[in-house]
Amino acid sequence: MSIIRTASSTTLEGLLFSGGSMTTKVKANFSAFLIKHGEDILLFDTGLGSHVSQQYEQDMPFWARPLFKYDEPVVTARSQLDKEGVSPVGNIIISHSHWDHASGISDFPEVTVRAPASELEVIRHAGDGFGGAWPSQVSSPSIKWKSLDFKPGPYEGFDASLDWFGDGSVVLVPLYGHTPGSVGVFVTVDSKRRYFLVGDTVWRAAALKEGRPKFWAASLLVDHDREKTQQVVEQIRAVVKRNADLTVVPSHDAAVQDALGYFPDWVK
Ligand SMILES: [Zn+2]
Repeated sequence: MSIIRTASSTTLEGLLFSGGSMTTKVKANFSAFLIKHGEDILLFDTGLGSHVSQQYEQDMPFWARPLFKYDEPVVTARSQLDKEGVSPVGNIIISHSHWDHASGISDFPEVTVRAPASELEVIRHAGDGFGGAWPSQVSSPSIKWKSLDFKPGPYEGFDASLDWFGDGSVVLVPLYGHTPGSVGVFVTVDSKRRYFLVGDTVWRAAALKEGRPKFWAASLLVDHDREKTQQVVEQIRAVVKRNADLTVVPSHDAAVQDALGYFPDWVK
């Protein structure tokens, strides 16, 4: 696994989780995650893509612009992978369809993009206020959407899961709440260390440990179902309690990601 940081921004800690400081500035990342399994290449999220400025101009509501920003430069996942000759990407799975995760989809027109049926519903409704996906990113008829279907049966406290490669190394679980079809993934790397990519269910792993949710006003803006999101946060906390060696990696958590390193380096 490798973390592809496509851009970053600085924000106030207090906007990220309740009880955070309103004067301390923290860095947030916009990352995609490369998972290589033999010759199979899977991309979890896409980060910011080559059309992000047009997408932002078209679809970011004016009132939200002061809160949701990114800093230049943007170095797209596609350009980083091409530079290192990593190809072909077999599938893209998105943690959810929000702008900062789906922006790079258009840079991979040849790749099938997977999301649960409940998230494909959000995507069908892009632009009409349900779920918050952006038409500029997800509505092109040329995107090869395909549904991601979980199988019933418990895995790490979740009641459904999908063992992507069939060997337990990459296991997807539903994290429905932040959006109706949010997804997380457990990844076991070559060293046998385990990571849990949790999308935007939590923004800072440090806050998770203390059970502190997102800052309430931010949660109100971004979480589709706050109650369900909090239930999923508790599920993640329980997983962490049972697995002391598991590292939770939120999509935007620069502190966690800095420690793991970035593409083209592999997470050890
Ligand atoms: Zn996000």
